[in-house]
Amino acid sequence: MTAKTRVGVLGAGQLALMLAEAGERLGVEVICAGRPGDCAERIAPVLAVELDNAAMVHAFAERVDVVTIESENIDAEVLRGVKLFPNAKAVGIAQDRLVEKTFLQTCGIAVAPFAAVNSADDLAAAIAKTGLPGILKTRRMGYDGKGQARIYNPEDTVTAWEIVGEVPSILEGMVEFDREVSLLAARDAAGKIVYWPLIENRHRDGILRRSDAPLVNAKLQMLAESYLKKIMEELEYVGVLAVEFFVQGERLIANEMAPRVHNSGHWTIEGSRTSQFENHLRAIAGMELGSTESTPMVMLNCIGWMPEESETAKFAGLARHDYGKSARPGRKVGHLTFPAAETAAIAEWEKRLAEAG
Ligand code: AMP
Repeated sequence: MTAKTRVGVLGAGQLALMLAEAGERLGVEVICAGRPGDCAERIAPVLAVELDNAAMVHAFAERVDVVTIESENIDAEVLRGVKLFPNAKAVGIAQDRLVEKTFLQTCGIAVAPFAAVNSADDLAAAIAKTGLPGILKTRRMGYDGKGQARIYNPEDTVTAWEIVGEVPSILEGMVEFDREVSLLAARDAAGKIVYWPLIENRHRDGILRRSDAPLVNAKLQMLAESYLKKIMEELEYVGVLAVEFFVQGERLIANEMAPRVHNSGHWTIEGSRTSQFENHLRAIAGMELGSTESTPMVMLNCIGWMPEESETAKFAGLARHDYGKSARPGRKVGHLTFPAAETAAIAEWEKRLAEAG
């Protein structure tokens, strides 16, 4: 009998937790690098590792067969020399919005007009390039709408620069979109790629609230698949990749890419023959990719409040995922997944979740 592949995850939050759950079913051992008490600890070993400490990350990498990430916000320098899937180049691009937008453009993918902003003085020239309204975003460490400020008038620039913390940033022109979508794909080391169907995403205050899958649009699906193929081949990518797009008519404008499993793909646990978590592990552990055949699902994020099991259990078909995190305003503490046909239950829970946080 061959030994189980040991996958080390840098990070021990909910994405690591769900990777570990998929690992249990797949016979892949998942070990996480994080802090004691992190939520993945419920089912996987979590070793105390400071993720900005290269020596500690390298020592962790020694203990496993292959390393992956649950967040792209790990210094690419720390990752140098680690056997990492997806590779450090992909992570390095995704962790810097300026590098990312530039890279997407070189792949022939449309992005919002953008300009680098390194000081308050750069803002006037940046506005001339992008137009107003615009969004000032920190180049690094932004997530869930954090590190962002909207600029509607030239007078807003001083406040916006203060809001982002006076760090290297980019200004993006505001895109008037019809809807927001994401596409997830998994690529193995031999170059085989599988795609899930397009997902429609709704955000509030920069945080994902609801994902509906599939968004049926053959033209957009084909276009999005061609974009992910291009990115993955360019980067010799192994693992799951998520790209978020704005839809404008028949155009897709890329907003950002995540070199990892993604919140908008959580519905695949119940909705797909192979979930994003399982296919990520399959790709990086050198196993055959599974089918992404899917049924229509809706996912609602639980932000700042996790409903009790006794409440959710009343709804047959509802899958409750509690990350076991303490509830704080704006914090993702779990998600609920429904078959898309359960419209009444979805409407009721969407309302309750929106009222709670
Ligand atoms: P991000 O952190 O870049 O994913 O942004 C969070 C959310 O803010 C997006 O999902 C959009 O709803 C909105 N947003 C970000 N950038 C833009 C943009 N350039 N134009 C319009 N809306 C945007």
